[in-house]
Amino acid sequence: MSKKPPTVRGMNDILPDVAHTWEYLESEVEDIVESYGYRQVRLPLLEHTELFKRSIGEVTDIVEKEMYTFDDRNGDSLTLRPEATASMVRAGMTHGLFHNQKQKLWTTGPMFRREKPQAGRYRQFYQFDVEAMGYEGPDIDAELIIMSARMWQRLGIDRIRLELNSLGVPESRARYREALVKYFSGVKSRLDEDSIRRLDTNPLRILDSKNPEMQDIVHTAPVMIDYLDEESAAHFAGLQDLLRAAGVEFEVNPRLVRGLDYYSRTVFEWVTDALGAQGAVCSGGRYDGLVEKLGGRATPAIGWAMGIERFVALYEACGGEAPATDPDVYLVAVGEGTQARAFALAEELRDKVEGIRVELNLGGGSFKSQMKRADKSAAAFALILGEQELSEQRIGFKPLRIGEEQESIGLDDLASVLQDKLGGA
Ligand code: ATP
Ligand code: MG
Repeated sequence: MSKKPPTVRGMNDILPDVAHTWEYLESEVEDIVESYGYRQVRLPLLEHTELFKRSIGEVTDIVEKEMYTFDDRNGDSLTLRPEATASMVRAGMTHGLFHNQKQKLWTTGPMFRREKPQAGRYRQFYQFDVEAMGYEGPDIDAELIIMSARMWQRLGIDRIRLELNSLGVPESRARYREALVKYFSGVKSRLDEDSIRRLDTNPLRILDSKNPEMQDIVHTAPVMIDYLDEESAAHFAGLQDLLRAAGVEFEVNPRLVRGLDYYSRTVFEWVTDALGAQGAVCSGGRYDGLVEKLGGRATPAIGWAMGIERFVALYEACGGEAPATDPDVYLVAVGEGTQARAFALAEELRDKVEGIRVELNLGGGSFKSQMKRADKSAAAFALILGEQELSEQRIGFKPLRIGEEQESIGLDDLASVLQDKLGGA
């Protein structure tokens, strides 16, 4: 028996059938975000560890226990990015993209978090990420959310709903923090170990606890909305007005805090009940303080990230299917001199018929076995080139999916006949 090399836990191969759906959905999403003026950025997978510690926050699940961090040969501590926002901000600062400029940027690719692998939760997973820098909002907040609503609508995804909250500005959050510390200290005996530790360092994180036993305590905790400063409250109301006017339904969830420290004001999450426990499909928020915190000039900013695995799963759960990519024609060649002609013909069709998918029979074989392969390829038509056809400069044209008779077509006419047949399909 042969032995297979082991795989790395939580890291998946995306095989062709699935990758095809990914590619389709990614290109739909790209089309939409580009139509709102977002432009692509490609970023490295590695950053200095310090970047994530400072942006995501030391006392978060990601930084405390989920990062893939190693020392480079020169001693620098590097980390495989657990998310894209920090890298995006770093790139913008590196290249001076935020100086008196507004930016709408998108990126996509793998992220790495050493979480407990389960359905919808992996150690290498993919995100599609959009970020808008230099906009105060709440109009951009609304536009970002409306843009995501357009994706669901375009793709027939209906089992999804929007939750919103506002985390205010650092001053109002500090008052809220005090209220939380007071509240959680009063029920300290019922807190789990993580939460007790966070009571001093980062009490907001207690609200983000995934521990079921903590949920009751979390549910009766004070809520940020009661501590909002006036401007944040007006910003939040403005966002809600714009969403209502656009017909985007939402629900204010005063307990939504998100797992990263850099958020301020607007936070939101698109959640579904179609995927079991892993309900967050697309999450985001405003991070007005991040650029400054990393040493730049204060720059308002907001973004969202969508988990592509969950997005694909939800699309399928809602009955979505990527358009088929079966070959259009399978080219069968049998007999003396036909193979070289078939090669040339296949290239000619690829030149002349826009978008055609040609599968050329490779590896020879009898007429019967080649026709079997043609059938198995799921091509719409078989093109049959034998010695007789070649001598007459013609080719057999056999529909494989519909019960029509085989025809004979002049080789000179083939491209235009196919153009008609496929263009009309
Ligand atoms: P969750 O609450 O499920 O842990 P999160 O708040 O950690 O999600 P973000 O950091 O905001 O998620 O990332 C944005 C999106 O990336 C999520 O909405 C989700 O779709 C996806 N995502 C996050 N972590 C994972 C993971 N380990 N595996 C697959 N997808 C993930
Ligand atoms: Mg998480």
